[in-house]
Amino acid sequence: MDEENSIQIEIYTLEWCPYCRKAKSFFTSKNLSYTEYDIGKESAHKQEMQERTGGQKTVPQIFIGGRHIGGYDELIKMKSSGELGEIIELPENDFHKKMWDLTVIGAGPAGLSCALYAARKGLDTLLLSTGMGGQVIETDLIDNWIGSPEISGQILMQSFWDHIQKYSLRTELGEKVTDITPRKDHLALTLNDGRITPTKTAVTASGTKKRSLNVPGENEFKGRGVHYCAICDGFLYAGEDVAVIGGGNSGLEAALDLAKLDCDVCLIEIQTELMGEKILQKKVKNNENIHIYTSHQVKKIEGSDQVEQLTIRETETGEFKELSVSAVFVEIGLIPNSGFVCDEVQLNDRGEIIINDKNETAVQGLYAAGDVTNIKDKQIIVAAAEGAKTALRASEYLNS
Ligand SMILES: Cc1cc2nc3c(=O)[nH]c(=O)nc-3n(C[C@H](O)[C@H](O)[C@H](O)COP(=O)(O)OP(=O)(O)OC[C@H]3O[C@@H](n4cnc5c(N)ncnc54)[C@H](O)[C@@H]3O)c2cc1C
Repeated sequence: MDEENSIQIEIYTLEWCPYCRKAKSFFTSKNLSYTEYDIGKESAHKQEMQERTGGQKTVPQIFIGGRHIGGYDELIKMKSSGELGEIIELPENDFHKKMWDLTVIGAGPAGLSCALYAARKGLDTLLLSTGMGGQVIETDLIDNWIGSPEISGQILMQSFWDHIQKYSLRTELGEKVTDITPRKDHLALTLNDGRITPTKTAVTASGTKKRSLNVPGENEFKGRGVHYCAICDGFLYAGEDVAVIGGGNSGLEAALDLAKLDCDVCLIEIQTELMGEKILQKKVKNNENIHIYTSHQVKKIEGSDQVEQLTIRETETGEFKELSVSAVFVEIGLIPNSGFVCDEVQLNDRGEIIINDKNETAVQGLYAAGDVTNIKDKQIIVAAAEGAKTALRASEYLNS
């Protein structure tokens, strides 16, 4: 996309990077054009990106009017603080000035499926989300979405997104909900920038986010050797020595992705055994580029400008080991994005929203669907079905 804006937007991307797709969807949803430089297609772009960003090794890298913004998270923070609106003209954002029938929070499988069903039921629907595509967009290959074997997570979510555009509903990306408060006859949703959106019903489909390691060096080296998305950033470490932290499904998949890039991968797991699916464990164990360290805990990450060393400690013997690596990919599990719901909503001890068989929470008119709930199976097909159910239940509630 490259048309006329009053100010130039430039994005350094990689074809398979989900956060690049999220950034591009964000600009497109705001009717803003951008110039894209794919660093995988031209090595000059890769070098230029690193020169312009002071050595960043993560994509996307966004520039607006020549000013370095950072990645997708920084873009959304600027949008929320109002700073983005000060440097570039954004379309008028008046969606908070009316009462909606249903507001969907989240644009993963649960939220998008809910929005589709709500629009088809004729509900006046608003969809608010920090980004498009949820966790699926970060997954390379999905092989259990029935009817589409081996579909890429990005293509699947783009098809969900394109599908809902057929319907009359309002979608707003780059909007983070920070509070939900029940009022006498409606719910009040507070956004990051302080605006309050009234809605008769709402569906929380906010999924989960990645857990941090909380060790020295993690924050210091974010984007310069500490990464949370192997599909996005692994390419920049092709052929190098790297570590993956976490022996669950995400960690095993990340290790296999990096091994495919000829990386020498140290896979660190704190438990005595790997935790992910047996089929993935077998692939990892048979891969000569992957070295498994079970019963090891990460203690610190060190380097100068970039990560250079990872220190781990064997949990049984207490022995410390220093691994020379240029990147650490953190894949140690997920936390539900439920912190913004009001105290009346019940959470279980994992922080998941407790729902009944109608997807109702303890607050009237507030529903929840997908991975943020206490539903046991965290899968795309389950999340999409739960999202559809919530729209139908909310529609019944509004008609009653
Ligand atoms: C590495 C990995 C591989 C996987 N592989 C598979 C697989 O092969 N097959 C399968 O079926 N499942 C797989 N899953 C699980 C699947 O991705 C999830 O079950 C599914 O994405 C859950 O969908 P969701 O809509 O509930 O949440 P999510 O996909 O997490 O989407 C949540 C949405 O909410 C938005 N959001 C969050 N907080 C806020 C807020 N405060 N305000 C506004 N918006 C917010 C986010 O931007 C996002 O759009 C995998 C998961 C991972 C991590």
